[in-house]
Amino acid sequence: MSVAGAIAFSAFAMTLIVGLRYLITSGGFAIATRLRHPGLYVGLDTQMRREIAWSLASAAIYGVPAGIVAWGWQNRGWTRIYSDLADWPLWYWPLSVLICLAVHDTWFYWTHRWMHRPRLFRIAHAVHHASRPPTAWAAMSFHPIEALTGAVVIPALVFVLPMHIGALALVLTVMTVMGVTNHMGWEIFPRFIHAGPLGGWLITASHHQRHHQEYRCNYGLYFRIWDRLCGTDNGLGHFDLPDRGRDADAGDAGRGSAGIA
Ligand SMILES: [Zn+2]
Ligand SMILES: [Zn+2]
Repeated sequence: MSVAGAIAFSAFAMTLIVGLRYLITSGGFAIATRLRHPGLYVGLDTQMRREIAWSLASAAIYGVPAGIVAWGWQNRGWTRIYSDLADWPLWYWPLSVLICLAVHDTWFYWTHRWMHRPRLFRIAHAVHHASRPPTAWAAMSFHPIEALTGAVVIPALVFVLPMHIGALALVLTVMTVMGVTNHMGWEIFPRFIHAGPLGGWLITASHHQRHHQEYRCNYGLYFRIWDRLCGTDNGLGHFDLPDRGRDADAGDAGRGSAGIA
């Protein structure tokens, strides 16, 4: 196979993997939603079909750069991904995960705020906010412009940040699971996590729900640090659950932007 053919094949294979990963993860959590909160997605069939269509288009936009970089890693020694655990000290393994998540979070926070500028919002980000309320299928429901800003960050980062292949797999798993659960319409984490001290720093569904309710706050991805530093953290949102009434409410004003500003 020619080099161009091999690169195209890798990009295509990665698109399939990203698409299947999305369908399995979102599908799994959609089934969990049906079991845990029957009726939560009633009346949202048209919206969910749209979420799936945009997400599958995003799968190609995510899959192509990842597939090209994966080919280069395997065949040309590109990237600083390593597979022998002994190449770096063991303590670096969790640190590399944390650095990768922090860089991704920083990139997401600022590009997300940029996406909320009126013109760009109308052109691109409105697609994501058309999910009202979002469902488990909305995880990758982005306009191609927005999908592109998200797709380049990890493939670019592995060129500068040494990462064990397992650490990279963990980052991709966290990215996938949090992307789905943050849009699911209910909280999977126990209350002591999302409403406790840890929830003051970590983003779960209750936090991102408020972004979808109020738009101009809670822009972060994994951590609340940038939101708190920049005064854009409005605390946790609420869920209107058909079987339980309101779940989490916005009662954590004390942990808003005042925390570390
Ligand atoms: Zn969202
Ligand atoms: Zn937004």
